[in-house]
Amino acid sequence: MKKITITGAGLVGSLVGVYLAKKGHTVHIVERRPDMRREAVVAGRSINLALSDRGLRGLQGAGIDKDILNVAIPMQGRMMHSISGEQTFQPYGLEHQAINSVSRGGINIALMNCAEQMPNLSISFNQRCLDVELDSATLVVQDTTTNKRSFIESDCIIGADGAYSAVREKMQKTDRFNYSQSYIEHGYKELTIPAGLNGEFLLNKNALHIWPRKQFMLIGLPNLDGSFTCTLFFPFKGNPSFDSVKSDSEIKSLFEENFSDVIPLMPNYINDFKVNPVSTLMTVRCFPWSHKDKVLLIGDAAHAIVPFFGQGMNCGFEDCTVLSEILDNYSENDWENAFKEFELLRKQNSDAIAHLALENFIEMRDKVADAEFLRRKKIERLLHNQFSEIFTPLYSMVTFSHIPYSDALTLGEKQDYIINQILSIPHIESDWNSADNQTFIRSVMTPK
Ligand SMILES: Cc1cc2nc3c(=O)[nH]c(=O)nc-3n(C[C@H](O)[C@H](O)[C@H](O)COP(=O)(O)OP(=O)(O)OC[C@H]3O[C@@H](n4cnc5c(N)ncnc54)[C@H](O)[C@@H]3O)c2cc1C
Repeated sequence: MKKITITGAGLVGSLVGVYLAKKGHTVHIVERRPDMRREAVVAGRSINLALSDRGLRGLQGAGIDKDILNVAIPMQGRMMHSISGEQTFQPYGLEHQAINSVSRGGINIALMNCAEQMPNLSISFNQRCLDVELDSATLVVQDTTTNKRSFIESDCIIGADGAYSAVREKMQKTDRFNYSQSYIEHGYKELTIPAGLNGEFLLNKNALHIWPRKQFMLIGLPNLDGSFTCTLFFPFKGNPSFDSVKSDSEIKSLFEENFSDVIPLMPNYINDFKVNPVSTLMTVRCFPWSHKDKVLLIGDAAHAIVPFFGQGMNCGFEDCTVLSEILDNYSENDWENAFKEFELLRKQNSDAIAHLALENFIEMRDKVADAEFLRRKKIERLLHNQFSEIFTPLYSMVTFSHIPYSDALTLGEKQDYIINQILSIPHIESDWNSADNQTFIRSVMTPK
């Protein structure tokens, strides 16, 4: 059995710790921040997250999927808010399918509690990884309360320290390590729609609310206390942008022109807009993710993506499931090859979801309000109903299935081609069942 040190007790570090401890290894997690169960931690990134099937399977391995679902709010579709305040619901998938709004802190705490119940797993807080000696799997950590430095020796290090990973930074200095990080032109700011006077939800709680405004958008996810955490994705530069909208009157005009239905629901929007921080969004791509059998990157440390498909955490949890399955096929002396298999398999999938997440930003902020897009979605639904064995829409493949992301991407491109052919028939949606149209649809769906 190995002595394993994990950097980061975030979502993925805590979960992978549970998986490894379950296999009997001795696991020690070092976390830079204080213990969020004891101290109020300043909210960092998104307060709530959309958890879907891949993430749930990851949590199932730790036995806490049902507990998390009990405190999640299912969202069956998008609720689009037009500029005039009209609301239109678009289902995400079949009637029983939903993504789940979960609290980031809640899920992290549940994972840490689950981890610490294991006798062979411990978490040390306020321990910042400063440096890594890759060949010997030795960490240099600093206690952030005393500034005291210490060395932690292990058989293996798992770098789960997020998008700005210190472990990855050290690997970047090794020979032939590829690395890129690219920021998008938009940042984000969180705002809140509080609960009503009696704790009630002021919008439909079973939907992810979107105010698409082409170059920017506002979204809102429900919280258990009746509030919605809203996120404004907005350009840094240009007009309007975080750069151009600063004063009370500029913020007021932005909302009056674009989010007038939000104003009565968000009494503190001007102050919140001024006070709440703006955060950046980036995609990190790197390779390899491992160094011999000594170090492995996982989660955002290996593949940070933009949040527009709601898959960063889900993908990180899927990493844990896949790593666990791969390790079961290798002896403990052969983790170098296990890590190689893992990184090859996951790299193509994380590249695919990184690509899809960037594309989905355009879909969410712009296309969802477009008549042509709604036509496409209708055709997708008709095809899904009629050919459910062979046609699953891209969103459903990513969100409600375990089909590898890279396969979903390839299949999605083929589907686009098919849908384009079908859409070329005038009035196809209303004349779907005519004999001629059915012959054509069948011929494109099952080409000889
Ligand atoms: C606005 C926004 C919305 C999102 N929405 C969704 C969503 O709806 N669905 C979804 O699936 N994903 C979503 N994500 C993505 C998701 O948040 C990440 O993919 C997920 O948090 C990655 O988990 P992780 O454990 O790899 O990294 P993190 O959650 O970043 O955890 C890393 C941990 O490592 C610690 N750490 C960092 N550096 C060090 C160090 N030097 N030493 C020790 N510890 C260290 C950190 O304190 C942290 O606890 C969203 C992201 C953003 C920004």
